[in-house]
Amino acid sequence: MSKKLTTREDNYSNWYNELVGKADLAEHSEVRGCMVIKPHGFAIWEKMQRSLDDMFKETGHVNAYFPIFIPKSYFSKEASHVEGFAKECAVVTHYRLKTDPETGEVVVDETAKLEEELIVRPTSETIIWNTYKGWIQSYRDLPILVNQWANVVRWEMRTRLFLRTAEFLWQEGHTAHATKQEAISEAEQMLDVYATFAEEWMAMPVIKGVKTESERFAGALDTYCIEALMQDGKALQAGTSHFLGQNFAKAFDVKYVNKEGKEEYVWATSWGVSTRLIGGLIMTHSDDNGLVLPPKLAPIQVAIVPIYRSMEQLEQLQDKLKPLVAELKKRKISVVFDDDDNRKPGWKFAEYEMKGVPIRLAMGPRDLENNTIELARRDTLEKTNVSFENVADTVEGLLETIQSDMLAKARAYRDSNMHNADTWEEFTDIIANKGGFVSAHWDGTSETEEQIKQKTKATIRCIPLENKKESGKCILTGNPSEQRVLFAKAY
Ligand code: AMP
Repeated sequence: MSKKLTTREDNYSNWYNELVGKADLAEHSEVRGCMVIKPHGFAIWEKMQRSLDDMFKETGHVNAYFPIFIPKSYFSKEASHVEGFAKECAVVTHYRLKTDPETGEVVVDETAKLEEELIVRPTSETIIWNTYKGWIQSYRDLPILVNQWANVVRWEMRTRLFLRTAEFLWQEGHTAHATKQEAISEAEQMLDVYATFAEEWMAMPVIKGVKTESERFAGALDTYCIEALMQDGKALQAGTSHFLGQNFAKAFDVKYVNKEGKEEYVWATSWGVSTRLIGGLIMTHSDDNGLVLPPKLAPIQVAIVPIYRSMEQLEQLQDKLKPLVAELKKRKISVVFDDDDNRKPGWKFAEYEMKGVPIRLAMGPRDLENNTIELARRDTLEKTNVSFENVADTVEGLLETIQSDMLAKARAYRDSNMHNADTWEEFTDIIANKGGFVSAHWDGTSETEEQIKQKTKATIRCIPLENKKESGKCILTGNPSEQRVLFAKAY
């Protein structure tokens, strides 16, 4: 199989699909919209999970697990929630198969029909709030700060590996609070956790904001989000945190007795990020040679390749390099020493480049004589010969440099693709020809939002939390507007 990718310039979408395959991250399964996550892709997800999970625990959350099946009746309890999810639910109707004696075919056993159909969870608010009813009686039982790591199913029509799949892996936090203010603070806190994770771990700068009413989660009063910009100028919604008000508490009759002995409905939040983050990671940093990973999320941070002609040379290199491998491991740097004799160095270099290993070290007989080693950076493709003395320090420092350089580069790209538009002509020109985020005035109505979407394919990504009030005129209708919102074409 050729290792060369279609370039981003030639066809961004093909570049992405080929990269996901050739970097061994994932592949399509025969079930439409469902993917197989391969070990290299899953190792990135595991690193994401570990760091996010630590951040959730640091902010007081605990993990639990709820069933994958939700009785259909639960969905009818919260009207806007069911409306939002009805079109993409997988429904279990039977629980047994049998072999047709005449044709020998395996068929559904019609006698094994469920009395009440079960929905494969598209999200777990309903089953969790039905459970919380039994957990909450008084203010002493609050808050509940629970997170679940799970898979969910949304029968998506247009799918794309990692970015939008029918089954995806995610975490979903579901919290219950005594007061409105506490729930809002929780939703904001988790948005900050996501933004910190995106920037400090993924090296992916994000804009924090609030969704407009039409883009809000079904059943939420407010949806906070983080939005990132991909290299093709399209935006990606990378995480959401919802303030759910008392909607689910009212739907499932979850009340608590407050300190004054009065009954009140409980306040709720939910928040989630998914395997979509891996798609965002790829599209933020990778290049035409393959995956580029920030060191903090790279399953292999350093690959060391010995270059030799004879077995004797190999042994010398092993003697020299094994202590370095041990030293790097001692520093919690994940390292591979690749002395596989079945592959040539050139093949190995291409492989580690495709898979996004941040640092590659190579050493041959001449380096051995000179006490040097070749060091290659995946992010900049720079190669240098460095002294073998203190090479562990050099590597450790460089991993940190790469992490921060990648964020700086992604931020510079994002900032240079952030435009202001004050007229409809300017707006449509930027959306059609440049891409990126466009900050513009909007009259605040869903009708105008929809018209802009129909005319340009751009949607309101969010109302940025940082935006100041500023009076202006809507770019489409000319009606008064109090602040700019952020538009973009999006995944
Ligand atoms: P939501 O419950 O709709 O707010 O989504 C929670 C998180 O899951 C968000 O971060 C979304 O980006 C992500 N997400 C939603 N739908 C999909 C999908 N089909 N595939 C992958 N991730 C998704």
